Amino acid sequence: MRYVRIDTQSDPNSSTFPSTEKQKDLSQVLVSELQAMGVVDAHLDKYGYVMATIPASVTSLPIICFCAHVDTAPDCSGTHVKPILHQNYSGGPIVLPEDPNQIIRVEDYPYLKEFIGGEIITASGKTLLGADDKAGVTIIMEMAKYLMENQSIQHGPVKILFTPDEEVGRGTDHLDLKKLGADFGYTLDGGALGSFEFETFSADYIVLHIEGVIAHPGAAKGVLQNAIKVAGAIIAALPKNEWCPEYTEDRIGFIHPNHIEGGAEKARIEFLVRDFETPKLKLYAQRLLRLAEGIIHSNTDFSKVKISMEVTEQYRNMREVIDQHPAIIERAIHAYERANIKPIISPIRGGTDGSRMSFMGLPTPNIFTGMQAIHSKHEWIGVRDMVKAVEVLVNLVEII
Ligand SMILES: [Zn+2]
Repeated sequence: MRYVRIDTQSDPNSSTFPSTEKQKDLSQVLVSELQAMGVVDAHLDKYGYVMATIPASVTSLPIICFCAHVDTAPDCSGTHVKPILHQNYSGGPIVLPEDPNQIIRVEDYPYLKEFIGGEIITASGKTLLGADDKAGVTIIMEMAKYLMENQSIQHGPVKILFTPDEEVGRGTDHLDLKKLGADFGYTLDGGALGSFEFETFSADYIVLHIEGVIAHPGAAKGVLQNAIKVAGAIIAALPKNEWCPEYTEDRIGFIHPNHIEGGAEKARIEFLVRDFETPKLKLYAQRLLRLAEGIIHSNTDFSKVKISMEVTEQYRNMREVIDQHPAIIERAIHAYERANIKPIISPIRGGTDGSRMSFMGLPTPNIFTGMQAIHSKHEWIGVRDMVKAVEVLVNLVEII
């Protein structure tokens, strides 16, 4: 509840790193708290990464890193977050006091039922809560405190990593894995109790450039070829009930126009391309280009329009890496079971810092924190889930 009060929203339109300086406000607090626990090497670098080591009591064990991101999503305000602890939750609707239109109901979030009689944390109605990912930060800090206070626990070396800018997709841009020096890692950035994720989308970003032929509209007859109209025709020709996020779920990928800009002379359409099978991304791009070229070739009004496509790799399904290290999965499942938690393994329709880190050489699956309704004013979390996640982390470093 202390951490969420610190505004750490990241900014996708910033060109600095970290994207907002204020993220370091929390990172600095974390460094001070770790040092106060006796984690002497805790430090913050100029990019906003916090790294720290909890020394091993058993040196033969692998070096495990736990990672969480300090930033909150740009989708919803993170300024003046006022967390509320609801004790002995009744199961009824939770009306957020600063905006009574914001009501968290069991009908919308059936998972609330698990916390009847228990404790829930929400925001106050005007902001997100920031459980994503300050719940992850909290869980790691609590584990650190527990290990430092209970020196009799036999565990291997533990690395702690707090990253900025995960929500704007740049969380690992300046990450020095050599300096971190871990064998493998786990992000604390998952949802409901028991969830365990080591499969993510593979993701590309496509920009379709459309170059029309411009003319003064008063003398445009037979000359003007309007890039805006071409863009409109392409969007209209996209499949309606397949191949788009509105109509796909589970393991089915999509292509999603998420930004458009331009004028009569030229325009650009940006697309997110996602699938669990990396080779399919190329097929999606080819299909999109064929569709776009089909529009201009079949329409004489667009005969001089030029179309080009630019594809940028974003991240890849971490399973391609994790499959080569089955022990990392087994170790986590064992740790869940020792905490009496049944692992719920499912693919994430998105990416995590762990997707990038896995391909940079640090295999990094994702562990639950409990966070729900993330990136919204309804964001909430049950305290039990965070407590259980701490137990899982302690089990993970203890298991031999
Ligand atoms: Zn997150």
